[in-house]
Amino acid sequence: MQIRPVIGVPCGLQAPPGRQDRAVSAVPESYVRALESAGAAPLLIPVVRQESTLRMLYRLLDGLLLAGGVDIDPARFGQEPHPKLGKVDALRDWVELSLVPWAWADGLPVLGICRGIQTLNVARGGTLWQDITSQVPGALHHGRVSYTLRAHAVKLEPASRLVTVLGSDKVRVNSLHHQAIQVPGRGLQVVGRSSDGIIEAVEGDGQAWVVGVQWHPEWLWETDRPAERLFEGFVAACTARRAASA
Ligand code: MN
Repeated sequence: MQIRPVIGVPCGLQAPPGRQDRAVSAVPESYVRALESAGAAPLLIPVVRQESTLRMLYRLLDGLLLAGGVDIDPARFGQEPHPKLGKVDALRDWVELSLVPWAWADGLPVLGICRGIQTLNVARGGTLWQDITSQVPGALHHGRVSYTLRAHAVKLEPASRLVTVLGSDKVRVNSLHHQAIQVPGRGLQVVGRSSDGIIEAVEGDGQAWVVGVQWHPEWLWETDRPAERLFEGFVAACTARRAASA
């Protein structure tokens, strides 16, 4: 049997309008497919409400993937809600912002994607632009045009882990976000920006494999080699982590 690292993917709550009683814990299938294809065993973490439950699930993990999704409650980074703030998910915020400090302390590999780079940043005490278009004059259009359109370039720091992982210091990426990192959190290095200065990639400054990207490689990996390499690099780090802790 092929040994696969177990990678936790926290879910969000999705419900029909006004019907919280019919909510489901869910993660877009694209993340599950990308992780499985890259050699991992994805484990969806439901929206749970008790820390002891979350701790037990966390102990199963060789890595943590923070997926895209709704906006993070700005109270989590000390700001009042901006008028253009989108939907929030308080329980998901709690789950993810609990998991990140544990993973950070344990040196567990973490990949944050879109909302996930923002989650990583907020967990480390950073702040967010709540709406790029209204808060950052002159910024490119980062909002959704299509899932797979490579809307803009990202220039990466030559000495970064991400350049090694992606195999290039410049990538063209899709862009489906209206928020971005404002002030980076503790221990996070900015390693990628678009031409307007918006932060598109960060990584941890320690030994652990911690990477956040503002784009969506889970929509690109089937046709885009750098996106595929990002998942492969993450899974390789999780495999090494599993071997080291066995
Ligand atoms: Mn973008």
